[in-house]
Amino acid sequence: MGQKWDVVIIGGGLAGFVAANYLASYNLSILVLEKNKNVGGRARTDHIRQQYFNLGPHALYKKSKAKAILEELNIQISGKSPKIGGILVKDNYEYIAPFSPLGLLNTKFLSWKERIEWAKVLMNVISIDNEKLVNQTFEQWVQQTTRSANVQSILFLLGRLATYCHSPEKVSAKVMLFHLKASLSGVLYLDKGWQTMIDQLHNNAVTCGVQVQTSKSIKQIFPIEKDHFKLVLTDEEVIFGKNVLSTVGPNELNQMLGEKSPFSQIESFTEIQSVNGATLDIALTQLPNPKKLFAMGIVEPIYFSVHSNYARLSDDAKSIVMHVFKYHKPNENIDRKKVKMELEQFLEKIQPGWKSYVITSRFIPDITVNQRLPQPGDEEMLQCSKNKIPGLYIAGDWTSPNLILSEGAVTSGKQAAEEIIKKEKS
Ligand SMILES: Cc1cc2nc3c(=O)[nH]c(=O)nc-3n(C[C@H](O)[C@H](O)[C@H](O)COP(=O)(O)OP(=O)(O)OC[C@H]3O[C@@H](n4cnc5c(N)ncnc54)[C@H](O)[C@@H]3O)c2cc1C
Repeated sequence: MGQKWDVVIIGGGLAGFVAANYLASYNLSILVLEKNKNVGGRARTDHIRQQYFNLGPHALYKKSKAKAILEELNIQISGKSPKIGGILVKDNYEYIAPFSPLGLLNTKFLSWKERIEWAKVLMNVISIDNEKLVNQTFEQWVQQTTRSANVQSILFLLGRLATYCHSPEKVSAKVMLFHLKASLSGVLYLDKGWQTMIDQLHNNAVTCGVQVQTSKSIKQIFPIEKDHFKLVLTDEEVIFGKNVLSTVGPNELNQMLGEKSPFSQIESFTEIQSVNGATLDIALTQLPNPKKLFAMGIVEPIYFSVHSNYARLSDDAKSIVMHVFKYHKPNENIDRKKVKMELEQFLEKIQPGWKSYVITSRFIPDITVNQRLPQPGDEEMLQCSKNKIPGLYIAGDWTSPNLILSEGAVTSGKQAAEEIIKKEKS
């Protein structure tokens, strides 16, 4: 017989550890199982040749539910906000980004008429009640909000920046505008990366008696009797849990539940698409052009930002750590070589000669940023998927109808823990 736990948490990422931290103050036996050698999931930071590389560019919304929850758990968040500004690139032209009052005044991307229009649209974004945008896509909202093609293209670009979603024709306006508004209140780049949050969450959980086992991959979940589960690992080890909290993606959860998965019968659940991109994470000894710290393509869905200008991301204070990122369309076929070349060429435009200064770099051609592309109608689908199996809880960046990224992961982790606590106390 395998060991029996009050709560088994599958996945040692943000959602799993936030849940573990809340559950830890109750008298419950808690086990976190993580398939990788190290904890952190997509919030992990790799320390490579003295540089701290997040898995691609990571920025935490300054005024966010996630930050408030992490602070409630006594997680110290240290970092700085990047300056608002930078440049926008179209073909071979560079324009000052109209993101600050000075940028708006000086940009040549917009005519005077368009600048006034853009200022009005921005005020609209700030004051909009996104709860009312229930069945609209972001594209529909943008087209309804402004007729100017240039202003529309800035809205699409800012939407990508705030959410990583690059399919305005599909994505929910409500979710996009919530995150766009949050990003306009500023973001933080974190000293030594997001691993610092994970390490504190992990240490606090372990100190409070939570068991964390790494290199443990769950293969199957069997509901065995009312409210009890048998978990089979890939090495055939068996574990029993009274409650199971899964933080893995929707497809993986479905597979773990096998033929009897109640989620296979919900068509929109099986059709959930992920938000993906390619990242080129680079450390340089110096920047060829120290004035250019941020750039985005207007048409080309590419992002560039020097994160070390604001956060400590190297053991050597002089090193530069930056990210170049390409936003993929849902289910896009990725040509690895082509994508790498696109990212390198974009960087060459902004930082000519950068290759001479490389300390180390890492290219990931296709990485999941969020496990669900948020679409109108998701709320119903997620609601209908909840409580399908009593005792099985789900959390993770795809499980909140209106929140994605770390916002979704952290808030759903807390929510799942509260649901478990409520059940156990009743
Ligand atoms: C390139 C990139 C850029 C990003 N930028 C931002 C940003 O700027 N701002 C922001 O808020 N968010 C950003 N994110 C998103 C953020 O990192 C994620 O939303 C968040 O970390 C997800 O946490 P999670 O716990 O839901 O999932 P995960 O971190 O994926 O955790 C799930 C864990 O489950 C484990 N697991 C999976 N299967 C099994 C199994 N069978 N058995 C045991 N364990 C298993 C996985 O190994 C993983 O550790 C970015 C992500 C990426 C990739």
